Amino acid sequence: MFEKILVANRGEIAMRIIRACKELNIKTVAVYSKADANSMHVEVADEAICIGEGPSADSYLRIDRLVSAAEISDVDAIHPGYGFLSENAHFADVCESCNIRFIGPRSAAMNALGDKAASRTLAKRAGVPTPPGSDGLVATEQEALTSARKIGYPVMIKAVAGGGGRGMRVAHNDVALVKGYHTARSEAEKAFGNSGVYVEKFIENPHHIEFQIFGDTKGNWVHMGERDCSIQRRNQKLIEETPSPLFERKEFRDLRKKMGRAALKIAEVSGYTNAGTVEFIVDEGGNYYFLEVNKRIQVEHPITEEVTGIDLVRLQILVAAGEKLPMSQNDIQMKGHAIEVRVNAEDAFDDFRPSPGRIDVYYAPGGRGVRVDSHAYAGYTIPPYYDSMIGKLITYGKDRTEAMNIMSRALSEYMIRGIKTTIPFEQAILKDPDFRRGDYTTHFVEGLLGGARRELIQVQA
Ligand code: ADP
Ligand code: ADP
Ligand code: MG
Repeated sequence: MFEKILVANRGEIAMRIIRACKELNIKTVAVYSKADANSMHVEVADEAICIGEGPSADSYLRIDRLVSAAEISDVDAIHPGYGFLSENAHFADVCESCNIRFIGPRSAAMNALGDKAASRTLAKRAGVPTPPGSDGLVATEQEALTSARKIGYPVMIKAVAGGGGRGMRVAHNDVALVKGYHTARSEAEKAFGNSGVYVEKFIENPHHIEFQIFGDTKGNWVHMGERDCSIQRRNQKLIEETPSPLFERKEFRDLRKKMGRAALKIAEVSGYTNAGTVEFIVDEGGNYYFLEVNKRIQVEHPITEEVTGIDLVRLQILVAAGEKLPMSQNDIQMKGHAIEVRVNAEDAFDDFRPSPGRIDVYYAPGGRGVRVDSHAYAGYTIPPYYDSMIGKLITYGKDRTEAMNIMSRALSEYMIRGIKTTIPFEQAILKDPDFRRGDYTTHFVEGLLGGARRELIQVQA
């Protein structure tokens, strides 16, 4: 087993990893930027090393400095968390060549599922349906037009390197397509240094449903059920839950089994190891389409932990250290219902504008069925350089109604003063009759924010 792990991340996920290490009696090394000197992960780790200035390009994305920090502190392994370098196969290779274990999939699997176009090809090879689309990249405006007309509008122009909801545009006609082609390309070039795009059918009113997968290095794979992540703003998740309310409908009862099998097929064909997530969209007729694989631990992993009783970060560490998966598919049972609400330092009523700054008052909810994963505290100043997520509120109940009731209660207790957060908006979602019934698609948030209902929410909030 590892004796010491370096956590190449910040914020709540750094806290989450350090907690798992402590429970396994593994020493931890935190890294931090100058802007994060007062961060909680620096406080709770056994050692901490400053790796540069605030902007991620000068700190959390610097492979050279991370590897130096790992060598100086003599760690056995690096946990990359999510975002930053977590899906960077080159980083994984550099770690391994320095005799430092990378806690994540092997780089071969990461490359096989490298970008979205490569992943689509692999899914097709695995016999898993993908949205109709261009075969690979579209290199010119004309190629994009030809593809779009062949697929049939509406379509999406998507960056192969995209992530976090960036680098994608919907088009309903030729004019929007040409415009979207150029904006998606330039957005992707800026955000990911890769302007490659492809075209795929835009599925209307879909659900985003993903499966947690896990592989060990001995050729064993399991899936741990689904997460419904359809409550999104700008193609980014805001609230997630498991089981998916869609699967509760009689006509979709067999979808979990079918999609779970499809997710496992992707894991096998790519030779996947460690934790991963296979993302799908599901249309109103129950047809499912592969989207991508997130080759890392996911933000919303806690809800799976709550319903399966499996500590996913602990399992990541054990499997990276060479242990066999301690369970088979039949051992995995989902019990009860879990919901996660992402708490972002943003003003939901002003287009989710980031609201960094000092937290003057902080009180986190507690009580039965409540879990808070956060690095926030009273007096903490949220730096402007990073993702605006400052915590996750997770509730667990025997069924969906109980989990929702605990969530509403917990949100009303959560006190964060000094900055704007998404909590008031999320309280409104928890009160919405369609949400309560489990009747929602990925368009839910725009519907709630649009038109007359917006004022109603502001009054309620
Ligand atoms: P999840 O499905 O785990 O919620 P997200 O897409 O929301 O994944 O991303 C998790 C984190 O990683 C977010 O902080 C997001 O901004 C960041 N992220 C995701 N993909 C990329 C990427 N390609 N480049 C940089 N950051 C990314
Ligand atoms: P990212 O890498 O940013 O997470 P994804 O491909 O996973 O990108 O898509 C993010 C979200 O965008 C999905 O959850 C869904 O809401 C929407 N989306 C992506 N592709 C499609 C599509 N073909 N049709 C409809 N919605 C889509
Ligand atoms: Mg995605």
